[in-house]
Amino acid sequence: MNGINIKESLKEIHARIEQAKKNRPDDIQYIEPRLVAVSKTKSVELILEAYENGQRHFGENYPQELISKATNKQILENCPEIKWHFIGHLQSNKAAKIVTLPNLYIIETIDSKKIASILNTVLIKNASASMNVYVQMNTSLEDEDCSHLKFCGLMTIGKYGYDTSLGPNPDFLSLVKSKETVCQELKLPYSSVELSMGMSNDFEQAIELGSKNVRVGSSIFGFRERKTK
Ligand SMILES: *Cc1c(COP(=O)(O)O)cnc(C)c1O
Repeated sequence: MNGINIKESLKEIHARIEQAKKNRPDDIQYIEPRLVAVSKTKSVELILEAYENGQRHFGENYPQELISKATNKQILENCPEIKWHFIGHLQSNKAAKIVTLPNLYIIETIDSKKIASILNTVLIKNASASMNVYVQMNTSLEDEDCSHLKFCGLMTIGKYGYDTSLGPNPDFLSLVKSKETVCQELKLPYSSVELSMGMSNDFEQAIELGSKNVRVGSSIFGFRERKTK
């Protein structure tokens, strides 16, 4: 094992989230951050352990890995309340498989009209309920009519390796701006649009700027081996 204590690391992350919440301006105090435990490359055992310690939202970004974990017998039996977030790039040929997985809570990475439309068609064909989605930054679905996609907000990964001592990540600031624009143009209440930004090394800054959904992997589960294809 890598010596990580999941119970302790979850506790520590929650404490840091609480602290970051206090540093927010009054007008975004109402946002209740949601911790998504990014379990990519990590074992089913570690997911079960995090679940036993109260974690419910989990993120995966490789389609095949999400498919295998979401349909894993142990997880299905022991984690009835698990909520999966797909946070990777979704290709058309995997769309149908992903969107019909048990306990899939949201697809965070809608990055083209094409993929939105394919997902929508699959959901209608299966007579499924609507699926929650975030639109990944720099894309727009304005004139797409996707009755079975529930737009919940905007997601960004942000520049990799940004030095947080330089102040807020410009990609986070830009996502906040995009939220303002989207709310104005689509006439949506500001509080109805969520932001998904912030990872292990910058989730506190993201929360301070109004992130709802923080995706934390290595700080919970420990160092990740690079995935070899
Ligand atoms: C891997 C990953 C994360 C988690 O990254 P950590 O630095 O381990 O916290 C968050 N979001 C996405 C999209 C990822 O691929």
